[in-house]
Amino acid sequence: MAYPRRVTDVVLAPGRDRSLRRRHPWVLSGSVAAVQGEPAPDALARILSAEGETLGFGDLSPHSAIRVRVVHFGKDPPPGDWLRERIAAAVARRAAQPLLGDTDAVRLVNAEGDGLPGFVADRYADVVVVKLGSAGMIQRREAIAGALREVTGAAHGFERSDPSAARQEGCPAREGPLWGAAPAAPVAIRERDRRYHADVVRGQKTGFYLDQRDARDLVASVARGRRVLDLFCYTGAFAVAAARGGARSAVCVDSSAAALELARRQLEENAPGFDAALFESDAFEFVRRDEGRYDLLVVDPPPLARKQRDAPRAARAYKDVLLHALRRAESGALVLAFSCSHHVGAELFRKIVFGAALDAGRSARVLRGLGAAADHPVSLDHPEGEYLCGLLLEL
Ligand code: SAH
Repeated sequence: MAYPRRVTDVVLAPGRDRSLRRRHPWVLSGSVAAVQGEPAPDALARILSAEGETLGFGDLSPHSAIRVRVVHFGKDPPPGDWLRERIAAAVARRAAQPLLGDTDAVRLVNAEGDGLPGFVADRYADVVVVKLGSAGMIQRREAIAGALREVTGAAHGFERSDPSAARQEGCPAREGPLWGAAPAAPVAIRERDRRYHADVVRGQKTGFYLDQRDARDLVASVARGRRVLDLFCYTGAFAVAAARGGARSAVCVDSSAAALELARRQLEENAPGFDAALFESDAFEFVRRDEGRYDLLVVDPPPLARKQRDAPRAARAYKDVLLHALRRAESGALVLAFSCSHHVGAELFRKIVFGAALDAGRSARVLRGLGAAADHPVSLDHPEGEYLCGLLLEL
């Protein structure tokens, strides 16, 4: 197998090859002794142990703490069409995955979980939204767009790369069409008997929280007759699921006026006449003053710990909002509580929930652990890919 046009060698410091030999796909900057050869951002760098053994190939990010994202292990480089092949395989896995059920909105590529670090793609009906987060993947923009277009047959491709991630990688941020016209925003999507709109141009993430699909199904299945509190509701996706599932009423709270506008529209379209009250408010404040009583509560805050050192502060914030929410819950209520911070893992989160219930003077049973849907696979080799955890509680 011929090497790419130019080869950059990343030589590890002595003894820093262990994680790579266990197939962990990141080389941190502190493990690198030297970078040799001509930098070629769109070509894979070769990773060598201090003794000169080739361990794998990956994307070099000259400015990032994650210095190399490995795409291929072993002494020979991957086949020349590895990028297209992995995209095609990721898309094919979703098409064959019964766990995703009836929907036209799925995550097609989940970074390390699909062997494509620094690259996420979500499909909303006829629109594919792409996030590129590493120098290597940003340089391959054209090839990625070409492969996605061919493999999916979607009419529109749109890039929503995170400006701060791109800056960190030393690349210009980009937002705009990759192929086809800029999509009409928001894009209409279908999930089971629910109709949603994903604002792929201005909305959060790529427009919609695809990762919560299983929890929406769960909410729909238990909602009948219940009064719902949807805290951090974004565009009301949980409230819509509850309304379709026969809920009595819903109170929806978010700090984003634009998200609430879409929530109102989605509730009207999915459940005309449904008793819903929407509040543009700080949810942490709202639960302190609220006097409502609820039988089904969803507490889904934004990531409160982006770094490990933020975890204790995030834990206090999660506990605070949960504590007040639990006080509003009727006996027999169901509560879906989530954390989407990688640094607040399942074990810490359970402790947070325990503390909140204790301080609220409520005893709760855990019925189920909750997590991201099956189109967000996490590689066993890469536990950092795990972020969403939750518990279904019964009071
Ligand atoms: N449950 C939503 C996703 C929630 S994401 C869904 O399934 O679609 C977190 C949400 O919290 C975002 O919509 C964001 O606007 C909102 N948010 C962030 N900080 C907030 C605050 N202090 N008070 C209320 N909402 C907040």
